[in-house]
Amino acid sequence: MGPVRVIDIFGTKEQKEAIVPGVCRGELSVSVCMTEPEAGSDLTALTTNAVEDGDHYILNGRKCFITGGGHASHYMVYTRFGNIKGYKGIGGLLVEKGMQGFSFGKQEKFMGLRGMPSCDLNFDNVRVPKKNLVIPPGEFNKLMWTFDIERCGNAAMCLGIAGGAFEEAKAYAMERKAFGSPICEFQAVQFMMVDMASKLDAARLLVYRAVNGAGQGLPSIYEASMAKAYANEMVVDVTNTAMQIFGGYGYSTEFPVERMFRDAKAWGVAGGTVQMLKIGIAGMIFGRRFDQRKR
Ligand SMILES: Cc1cc2nc3c(=O)[nH]c(=O)nc-3n(C[C@H](O)[C@H](O)[C@H](O)COP(=O)(O)OP(=O)(O)OC[C@H]3O[C@@H](n4cnc5c(N)ncnc54)[C@H](O)[C@@H]3O)c2cc1C
Repeated sequence: MGPVRVIDIFGTKEQKEAIVPGVCRGELSVSVCMTEPEAGSDLTALTTNAVEDGDHYILNGRKCFITGGGHASHYMVYTRFGNIKGYKGIGGLLVEKGMQGFSFGKQEKFMGLRGMPSCDLNFDNVRVPKKNLVIPPGEFNKLMWTFDIERCGNAAMCLGIAGGAFEEAKAYAMERKAFGSPICEFQAVQFMMVDMASKLDAARLLVYRAVNGAGQGLPSIYEASMAKAYANEMVVDVTNTAMQIFGGYGYSTEFPVERMFRDAKAWGVAGGTVQMLKIGIAGMIFGRRFDQRKR
């Protein structure tokens, strides 16, 4: 939803009409395209470049790890414009699948999330009409504000996975017997379940707070970052504990919890790593920005 909301909030009337109803009907989807082989956490180092040519931009560069790559109909590409350096040169261009010079790499093979399309994108002199400019250079902060909506979605995924793992572990603990009793009779197992429930509830409250703010406009950066960072760590912890409750069967691919653990690991990297989020939160706590290039 993140890149669709960028269009919804900041796009032209023509862009909104072309994209938003189609997405709502499930006919179109928009991928967010930030990451490059040499620019992940250090996003402002990106080198994908758009150069003006009459009423078009000529786009060149490469993106990687793009969720929905090859599958989505549209791509919100974070690109540098001309020679403008740093974040001031970055804006967002909407690129359509099928444009000449726009091609996809092979499907990424991940540890988890195996049903999710993801690949590299290659832009080789792609002529993108100027009407597809959504965020001009100089307005990079608009891209980042709306990216917090994407972060709320990421955090919600963590609630879903962890909630599933909790329910699986609870059912198993009531059914599996050891020493003549269901394992839920043992206090060590009970405490594991209680810890899972507490962390899941805490994450849920943080995510609901952030999403409530998002429903009234844009989410608070502080609330969205905290919800994502906490939920990202929580889901790894909860799925790991669920596997432990399953004993040897937790490690078997015949049961769902090992898949949940593999899926869980993705979310603390996708949408900005937990470490980068914590650097941002620290900046908000201390009321100053910690420039990672000046240390
Ligand atoms: C499942 C999945 C889906 C994704 N989907 C998308 C997508 O749809 N669109 C998109 O654009 N990208 C996507 N990504 C890419 C993702 O956003 C990047 O992988 C992420 O931002 C990290 O960048 P990187 O991999 O280059 O790691 P790096 O930036 O190289 O970081 C490596 C490690 O160093 C740490 N690190 C880096 N700098 C600092 C610092 N200053 N202080 C402390 N620690 C630091 C990081 O936290 C990390 O642990 C996806 C990734 C995954 C795994």
